[in-house]
Amino acid sequence: MRILIADDEPAMHDSYRRSFAGQRSGGGEALGAMAADLFGGTALEPHRGDTAGFALMHAHQGLDAVAEVARALANGEPFAVAFIDIRMPPGIDGRETAQRIRALDPEINLVIVTGFSDFSPIEISKVAGPADKIFYIAKPFEVAEVTQTATALAKRWEIDRELKAARVTLAAQVVQLKEQSAELAANESRAIHMATHDSLTDAPNRLAFLRALAERTRAPGLFATVMVDLDRFKLVNDTLGHLAGDALIREVCAILHRSAPDQALVARLGGDEFGILFETSSEAAGVMACERIVSACSVTLQVFGNSVQGGASAGVVVSEGGQGRDPVDVMRRSDLALNDAKRGGRGIVRLFDENMDEGIRFRRRVENGLSQAIAKGELSLVYQPIVARDTVEVIGFEALVRWNTDDYGAMSPSTFIPIAEESNLIHELGDWVLGEALDVVKQWPGQYVSVNFSPRQFRRHNFVGHILESVERAGIAPARLQIEITETAIFDDAERAADTLYKLRQMGFRIALDDFGTGYSSLYNIRKFALDCLKIDRSFIDGMGRERESAAIVHSIIHLGRALGLGVIAEGVETEAQVQALKLAGASHFQGYFYSRPVAAPIALGMANARYLGGEDDIAGDGPTPPRQLGNGMMN
Ligand code: C2E
Ligand code: CA
Ligand code: CA
Repeated sequence: MRILIADDEPAMHDSYRRSFAGQRSGGGEALGAMAADLFGGTALEPHRGDTAGFALMHAHQGLDAVAEVARALANGEPFAVAFIDIRMPPGIDGRETAQRIRALDPEINLVIVTGFSDFSPIEISKVAGPADKIFYIAKPFEVAEVTQTATALAKRWEIDRELKAARVTLAAQVVQLKEQSAELAANESRAIHMATHDSLTDAPNRLAFLRALAERTRAPGLFATVMVDLDRFKLVNDTLGHLAGDALIREVCAILHRSAPDQALVARLGGDEFGILFETSSEAAGVMACERIVSACSVTLQVFGNSVQGGASAGVVVSEGGQGRDPVDVMRRSDLALNDAKRGGRGIVRLFDENMDEGIRFRRRVENGLSQAIAKGELSLVYQPIVARDTVEVIGFEALVRWNTDDYGAMSPSTFIPIAEESNLIHELGDWVLGEALDVVKQWPGQYVSVNFSPRQFRRHNFVGHILESVERAGIAPARLQIEITETAIFDDAERAADTLYKLRQMGFRIALDDFGTGYSSLYNIRKFALDCLKIDRSFIDGMGRERESAAIVHSIIHLGRALGLGVIAEGVETEAQVQALKLAGASHFQGYFYSRPVAAPIALGMANARYLGGEDDIAGDGPTPPRQLGNGMMN
């Protein structure tokens, strides 16, 4: 701690020295001398005394004292205390010295030392204050008085300094904290944005939608909750790539924003599914708004230079707020409506009604029943002959499953197959069908059995191995099994499907593309698949006589099939007129009630053995034709 003594009398300096020397520890002086030796005498100047803990600096004139203070400050080792004599002729007096020192150093403690009683403490405090940093000692002073004052003030000075430093650090920390909290707030709002928005479209996400819906559900008034799903999105993704899929999603999101009612919330719920929330005056108005949205989506979009036909389906539920309804249930209802819309086709808007829920209950009961159907022996197969166009030779049979249920009587496969398809039951059911069909085909002289495989069965792991093992176990040549699959099965994962079909065909299995014309495959694309024949969907055959479009589609499918060297089976043939038209168009094979309904195995066996269906005279109008070789009738 540094102490400055300002006094014009040399004797006074001695007495200060003695005062402080009384405190000095024995080794202090020796150490001081050693330090002086080592550092070339600069550590101790001639007029500077060293004491335990105190370094004294001696000045004999006021101006010298002021200069010392200035130097000490400049060197970064300020004085803690200055003892200042009030009268120091010929220079400036103690009051002036104190004032000038204070002007330089606001922290220093000043002790005014005087032998006279004519000074005014108030006046000195006024110029050299503050009052708590200025003290007075009367001459002649006691040794203890000086050292005690010096020790107390030095201690205080030190604490003040530490406090000041702490305050500076604290202030810096406060600034830093403020910056950090501003940054945190920014990060937080970014995180909240990210957690509640979809990164692809920047639209609110499912979480944000559910929150908004929950809030809306609490407030009174009618509102519409809509779920929108893009048609053909998967196709775009698969054929043009994910970037194109992303671009399509963004494009559609913008369309939804534009076409939804003002103030509507448009959210991306995930994948190609969007949610829209808006105020409405009635169910009819809500549905109308949805129809506008869906028709706005039905435009041709440009995605990476490709024209893509946009399209969307929507399910809507109109609810009254403020009735304690569960927002998740509202979502579920609009989802049910959307599923119903999708089942109905494309570009459809469906308003939720309670029956949709009933539908789900029904499906669950069917699922439960189906899981026991095999064990209970409730399943059976019927066989419908497929005949060659001119000879009416039976070249194969399509196996069709039947289920006689306890609860519902005979249930159509169109009802229970899609339900089985949505659960794993389809595999068990499919295995049973295949096993049964292969058992029956063994008894026929040479016809094939055509078995339906649903998309899920076809995509099953190691489908090829499974089929091969089944025919080997049954002891049947692969050529006696025709695998019927739909476009949906192959176009969802075209590359893998092409590979599977190629392998199957290499092994000798026949492949038929079922329900052709109803899916979204382009006629051009089917080239890539190893096929034996196309089956024209019944709906086109049915519409042929009534609508020009159906007739045109039938004609182009037949043309395409022939151009690709494929057989073309017209299914659902019911009338003579259809037979004639299809013959003209060039279909190679027929299947339908006109020839035979699906029949039980023993009757099918009879037909198989007879080889030709009865009534050739009226059906095969071209006169008797030599029978073609069995099983080869469809390859051109
Ligand atoms: P699908 O494969 O298109 O089968 C043809 C359907 O048309 C059969 O209905 C058949 O009975 C019916 N049909 C045949 N000729 C005519 C006709 O002249 N007029 C009319 N109106 N209908 C005709 P079914 O047996 O009810 O089967 C419906 C669908 O269920 C089938 O359509 C097929 O997709 C599916 N399915 C049937 N059995 C199986 C199976 O074992 N496995 C799988 N995965 N699906 C099956
Ligand atoms: Ca079929
Ligand atoms: Ca079909």
